[in-house]
Amino acid sequence: MSSFFAKNIERMTGYTPGEQPREPGFIKLNTNENPYPPSAKALKAIRAAIGKRLRLYPDPLATKVREKVAEVYGTKPQRVLVGNGSDDCLTMVVRAFAGPGGRVAYPTPTYSLYRTLCLIENAKPIEVPFAPDFALPPKLARAKARVTFVANPNSPSGTFIEPKELAKLARAVDGVLVIDEAYVDFADRDCLSLVRRHRNVLVLRTFSKSFSLCGMRIGFAVGREELIEGLMKVKDSYNVNRLAVEAAAASLDNIGTMRKNVDKVRATRGRLAAGLEKLGWFVYPSQSNFVFARVRPPHSARECYEELKRRRILVRYFDAPGLDDALRISVGTDREINALLRNLREICAPCA
Ligand SMILES: *Cc1c(COP(=O)(O)O)cnc(C)c1O
Repeated sequence: MSSFFAKNIERMTGYTPGEQPREPGFIKLNTNENPYPPSAKALKAIRAAIGKRLRLYPDPLATKVREKVAEVYGTKPQRVLVGNGSDDCLTMVVRAFAGPGGRVAYPTPTYSLYRTLCLIENAKPIEVPFAPDFALPPKLARAKARVTFVANPNSPSGTFIEPKELAKLARAVDGVLVIDEAYVDFADRDCLSLVRRHRNVLVLRTFSKSFSLCGMRIGFAVGREELIEGLMKVKDSYNVNRLAVEAAAASLDNIGTMRKNVDKVRATRGRLAAGLEKLGWFVYPSQSNFVFARVRPPHSARECYEELKRRRILVRYFDAPGLDDALRISVGTDREINALLRNLREICAPCA
């Protein structure tokens, strides 16, 4: 039977977002949301933006955010593109640089949206497996791709690639190198300075994770003016709403709140990793707001995931190639992580 859909859309499966439980009462450690609230100033700015002006379209360029980003991160407004979440920036990147049949390379396992976006745009995903320790695979540089994505820190592994490795990759690739820094505020270092030295580097950031604004949908890309101008051509005209603009600008004005929350998350991350190791799990070194861990036989991560869910604790289970039987656990509050560790101790006591 003939389909109403374009062939590539008919063939693909859509992106599956993490579970968002409908009833309350879950400890939610499955989608890397920040356990702490956004800055009170951001909430106030959102409230102040609700009013008669919502009748009017927002600023198509989100100039207020571009200017604040430039000021806080030491760049120029013309080098900043604001998106409806950094997912929106990823969409623009694939549309603008790959196009139908264009090669898009990335090391796997990683953020599964990269593949989905390629299929939507009829681009060709080139998936290059990470080394077992999540080091950059040398083949990535030779993929002859128009776009190369590297999530750094990576998800779901939480691991980090040093900026000098990515600088080397930027020189080696043919097309644009997109460094997706959704989790970088939880890391020790970042790659923003690469934009100044490499004309093909785009760095993506989001207000979702470290700034606790998943629900507002706002993120940005930093890159050379030529790249940013070209990306503008493919964006939705009014892609960022008025409330998100105000929330992001106020969050940057009060960046101390984000830094304090990040410090707490990093401290809890250390306790979570140590607690899991004590239970006999293998934990990958995390520079993110989650940890990726494997349980030792005879227990299975799937059994732990299911039993935790029954006990109303949600974590993310992975069993894709290269990820066989592992859990990704978002760093919650100390109380949430204590509850998780207590329950895991019951479910899979170390076999002495
Ligand atoms: C969460 C996440 C994003 C998207 O963030 P939004 O700004 O909420 O769209 C992008 N990349 C990675 C790797 C992420 O984990």
